[in-house]
Amino acid sequence: MILVLFGPPAAGKGTQAKRLHEKYGIAHLSTGDMLRAAIAAGTEVGRKAKTIMDAGALVPDDVVVGIIADRIDDKDCAKGFVLDGFPRTLAQAKALDAMLDGKKRSVGHVILMEVDQAKLTARVEGRAADARARGEEVRPDDTPETFKKRLKAYNEQTAPILPYYEGQEKIRRIDGMQPIEGVAAQIDAILSDEKSGKSRAYL
Ligand code: ADP
Repeated sequence: MILVLFGPPAAGKGTQAKRLHEKYGIAHLSTGDMLRAAIAAGTEVGRKAKTIMDAGALVPDDVVVGIIADRIDDKDCAKGFVLDGFPRTLAQAKALDAMLDGKKRSVGHVILMEVDQAKLTARVEGRAADARARGEEVRPDDTPETFKKRLKAYNEQTAPILPYYEGQEKIRRIDGMQPIEGVAAQIDAILSDEKSGKSRAYL
């Protein structure tokens, strides 16, 4: 089971990916988390990525494609994985297909979390306030101003991938404005269709 969680920043991809990891035992691959780990570790990749991420822009394709290529051969990815925040450009989507092709694997579903973008800024502000209340550090790119730039990057560079996946008939649309459990239930329904053979992706 290889899944792509697709949607704008703060759509709830990370929350759902974490749950999918716990429920189905598939690996959770978040390029954002991996880049933040590289920053924390002070690696060369991390140093280059930090300035770009803090500005709300996208890290170069070759960097994130390399990170994913290195990761999907790990043992915990054998059963499957859920991609969260990758691919973010058409070039990344094509690179992903090429690397999976070589391993006789392919993306099963692209789960598109449809959200009201006008409400996302408030969500991010809430997320930052919650983190502050817990005494945690707030992500430097979770300020309203940088969030606007991330949303712009999504609309201009990431959303244009959708016709590519439409062409592959892999898109499954869900309502991302529902409470967490409601979103989870919609994803589970897609995955149970797959098991019962109703999904076109596996015909
Ligand atoms: P969110 O989904 O809330 O935007 P992420 O943790 O997925 O947060 O991403 C944070 C930042 O990391 C992005 O704004 C971007 O700079 C960088 N990033 C993460 N994944 C990618 C990717 N696939 N391609 C390019 N940049 C990425």
